[in-house]
Amino acid sequence: MNRPYNFSAGPAMLPQSVLEQAQQEMLDWRGSGMSVMEMSHRGKEFLSIAEQAEADLRELMGIGDDYAVLFLQGGASSQFSMVPVNLLGEKSGADYINTGAWSKKAIAEARRYGEVHIAATTEADNFTRAPEQNELQLDAEAAYVHYTPNETIGGVEFPYVPETNGVPLVADMSSTILSRPVDVSRFGVIYAGAQKNIGPAGLTLVIVRRDLIGHARAGQPTMFDYKTHADNGSMYNTPPTYAWYLAGLVFQWLKALGGLEAMARINQRKAELLYSAIDASDFYSNPVSIESRSWMNVPFTLADPALDPVFLDEAREAGLLTLKGHRSVGGMRASIYNAMPEEGVQALVDFMADFEARNG
Ligand SMILES: *Cc1c(COP(=O)(O)O)cnc(C)c1O
Repeated sequence: MNRPYNFSAGPAMLPQSVLEQAQQEMLDWRGSGMSVMEMSHRGKEFLSIAEQAEADLRELMGIGDDYAVLFLQGGASSQFSMVPVNLLGEKSGADYINTGAWSKKAIAEARRYGEVHIAATTEADNFTRAPEQNELQLDAEAAYVHYTPNETIGGVEFPYVPETNGVPLVADMSSTILSRPVDVSRFGVIYAGAQKNIGPAGLTLVIVRRDLIGHARAGQPTMFDYKTHADNGSMYNTPPTYAWYLAGLVFQWLKALGGLEAMARINQRKAELLYSAIDASDFYSNPVSIESRSWMNVPFTLADPALDPVFLDEAREAGLLTLKGHRSVGGMRASIYNAMPEEGVQALVDFMADFEARNG
């Protein structure tokens, strides 16, 4: 089946082979007589699916036994609260790095629980770059340092992992997790909504160092305590079973591809193809400083914004979907997550050249 290329920022494309496998297994998962959607989360069939998915993720990311992997609901947005609830402890505050729209949301939520110290902000540069390590004004007494490795709306990605000198580092990896290898041991908490690079919406992945579990603020909801979920294998209540299953299929797909190093090479090629097409033209532009450009989300504008609706209409007819930029930014945004094939980016670049030739 020939499907169009979908550049949505999230929920986003999934690998076609994963969707086909899910389709084949939809009515009868491997002789069980049930769809995964109809299974008890405590039955042996689903437990095997859940365990395999976690084992595959641990292998892909190199997650040590000193970390718990939680399969939760509530989205990355719930983690904006759960992180301070679980990590502030006796400390009065935490450091936050502000690089754009998602950082700001995390900061606003953390302010409900404690003092937020802004360790760095690139707002004066209109959030077109990540701050450098030597710009970070870190408080050695902070409970943790929070940052957004990839700002999905601005298309700004950190080219390095901040050094925090022993203070737990917390990362909202929603739009970059699994796009390249990371050294998990550098982090206290990694969290991500699934709908960009993991699977369907409804699942939220939290990778948390075990010594950070068990210190939740008193009086907070049971469901907001990492310990509740870590002690119960993410099955204190009914987990998002179907999304967990689909995430597992995506992990298998990544392993078959050669793991995160192979994925990173492909992602880097895709990003370079698109950015070099943008940079080579006077018609398209991207405002982000070169070293901070995202491999996953590529915002760009047309020289004449009056052409935006024409561009979008013609792109859709050419089989290139969901290129409209975020409502807060305008212009275009091409999200080229793991599941976007190289041919999709090539098709976009070809379309852009043709559109420029006709309208530039
Ligand atoms: C999409 C996104 C979110 C919000 O995720 P939800 O799962 O919708 O809560 C948060 N942070 C980043 C970086 C995102 O890309």
